[in-house]
Amino acid sequence: MAPIIYDQATKLFPGSDIPAVDNLNLEIEDGEFLVLVGPSGCGKSTSLRMIAGLEDVDSGRILIGGRDVTYAAPKDRDIAMVFQNYALYPHMSVAENMGFALKIAGAPGAEIERRVAEAAAMLDLGAYLDRKPKALSGGQRQRVAMGRAIVRQPQVFLMDEPLSNLDAKLRVQTRIQIGQLQRRLGVTTVYVTHDQVEAMTMGDRVAVLKGGVLQQCASPRELYRKPANVFVAGFMGSPSMNLLTLPITDRGVRFGDTTIPVPRDTLTAACNRDVIVGVRPEHLEVAETGMKLEIDVVEELGAEAYVFGHTTIEGRTEQLVARVGWRNPPQKGEVVHVRINTEHVHLFATTPAGDRLSP
Ligand code: ATP
Repeated sequence: MAPIIYDQATKLFPGSDIPAVDNLNLEIEDGEFLVLVGPSGCGKSTSLRMIAGLEDVDSGRILIGGRDVTYAAPKDRDIAMVFQNYALYPHMSVAENMGFALKIAGAPGAEIERRVAEAAAMLDLGAYLDRKPKALSGGQRQRVAMGRAIVRQPQVFLMDEPLSNLDAKLRVQTRIQIGQLQRRLGVTTVYVTHDQVEAMTMGDRVAVLKGGVLQQCASPRELYRKPANVFVAGFMGSPSMNLLTLPITDRGVRFGDTTIPVPRDTLTAACNRDVIVGVRPEHLEVAETGMKLEIDVVEELGAEAYVFGHTTIEGRTEQLVARVGWRNPPQKGEVVHVRINTEHVHLFATTPAGDRLSP
């Protein structure tokens, strides 16, 4: 078990002007489950592979357990990686796949057998030890890949989208199992996903990347409640936060017929005549009075429902999404009134970084 430190770690692929990972500073605590999340191409896999030693670090350092491993070979880093495609050996049985790394390392046969049996019991794979990977379901293969990592008893688990080949239901089950297993073993884990629901549900902390640059690293709750900038605000949460650029008036920001009070120092920080207002769908409430919203689409999800509609604000047509009661949601084409819950408004600067202005 060990903490991991990215110290100004940068990776620039040959032929590219923009670093895939740009000056990354991040400390992952001993035993922590850290999720790297972001859109395609943001540098998640490259960041993970830098810990593994599968990508060179162009500048900066990587430390595992206080040891500088920036130039250490992958085999000398005491890590185990679980890949998206599982990378199982097709000609080997489940038991042989799981024990292979120990065999290569010269561990005695009895020791290998004991550790494979232990991991198989944890993962409910005892009945499949003699089977070849092709005779397993996707979920079982995924568990063998996990088993292979566990058997090695590494200091660090590195997982690159390990659930992406599973169907939706199995993904949910397996993410719970992985979370339980990680807590039980207490091994520092870095987990890559593009799925923000997976990130929010699995991570002790979540690091959001965009264009190779770390945007924010915080607990799922903090990310959701206090996104550091417009990008994080829009990326975390489904459906996404409503984000509207609105003019600042003397008393605050006008949102339909509601005035959102904005503290004077926030206005000064904004240094602009506009501000970006963010409101989550659950904080835009259908009411008797308020701004008119013409409903284009109704999404009923069973326990909750969302309406997607359009309205006119400051002479512009704006799309908005609001959460509504599931019992009797409004219908497509209907016009409803929505009010903003001003206690839950987020304000961001209109600068390219879109930094958070509200406390
Ligand atoms: P995805 O979710 O699509 O897997 P990602 O966030 O994991 O994306 P990376 O695979 O880390 O992103 O890639 C980051 C950037 O580096 C991308 O712009 C990608 O095109 C580039 N890149 C990745 N691997 C290489 C490579 N071997 N050579 C050149 N550029 C690369």
